[in-house]
Amino acid sequence: MKIIRTPHSITVWSERLRREGVTIGLVPTMGALHDGHRSLIHAARLQCDALVVSIFVNPTQFSQTEDLSTYPRPITRDRALCREEGVDVCFEPTAPAMYPDGFQTTVTVPAIARRWEGTARPHHFAGVATVVTKLFGIVRPHLALFGQKDYQQAALVRRLVHDLSLGVAIQVRPTVRERDGLAMSSRNVYLSADERRVAPLLSQALQAGKQMIVGGILDAATIEQRMRQTVEQAPDMHVEYLAVCDPDSLEPLPVVVTRAVLLGAVRIGSIRLIDNLLVNRQAGKSRTTR
Ligand code: AMP
Repeated sequence: MKIIRTPHSITVWSERLRREGVTIGLVPTMGALHDGHRSLIHAARLQCDALVVSIFVNPTQFSQTEDLSTYPRPITRDRALCREEGVDVCFEPTAPAMYPDGFQTTVTVPAIARRWEGTARPHHFAGVATVVTKLFGIVRPHLALFGQKDYQQAALVRRLVHDLSLGVAIQVRPTVRERDGLAMSSRNVYLSADERRVAPLLSQALQAGKQMIVGGILDAATIEQRMRQTVEQAPDMHVEYLAVCDPDSLEPLPVVVTRAVLLGAVRIGSIRLIDNLLVNRQAGKSRTTR
């Protein structure tokens, strides 16, 4: 496995392979890789001739008060996981290489970024949209894979690729969970033992919402109230949002008709957890994905 640090070097590598007709896959990450990342890498490996994993803790998607300086960076372990999964290149750029002096362009996707994570983290999605656009320009993949765990981010990436005609196929893969339902996240290591014990209440709340829809309760306010009650069994957990939304626009739905996404964010102490669940009710028969 090659480790490439400069944008120019990986573009040269990629262009050479593209001329030879090799298909290139990209899994963008911030490192601290876990089985959620591994599932994206594994799926990419099966579909592409050459596979790049980018590891870049992108400063522009963190606010001043967030955890940029303490974000876990176990690079040796991350490289070992990439090697195990047959990755061809770990792309590990530095921040100055990605944002050299004079850098000034920002990509924004206003409607999708407005609510939910966009309200809680006002500059986050402009940072994400800009770095993803830049990674696509540098790595020039045919296919890029993202996790449903970050549902709003995946919707934003699909939108921006379509709107800007970036010519990259986007695949969104199911959320990988711990045995007790907690969605895997690089930030779960911050949870204390007590916090970790109650953290699965978020996924349980989403499951409760799903069960209501399956059972024919379709009024969003009623579903949201039940989800909130589930989370608030733990006095230390504070709901930021628990919402029934349209899976494409991410706008709130008053009533579920066929498809919905249940979006949730909670705070335990200083840690934020996000999760979501897709629900598809069709002809009285309901089906969900993870
Ligand atoms: P991150 O390193 O947090 O920026 O995540 C990199 C990619 O991995 C994103 O597309 C995430 O949505 C995805 N990802 C993170 N956690 C999970 C998970 N538990 N299951 C599936 N994909 C995930």
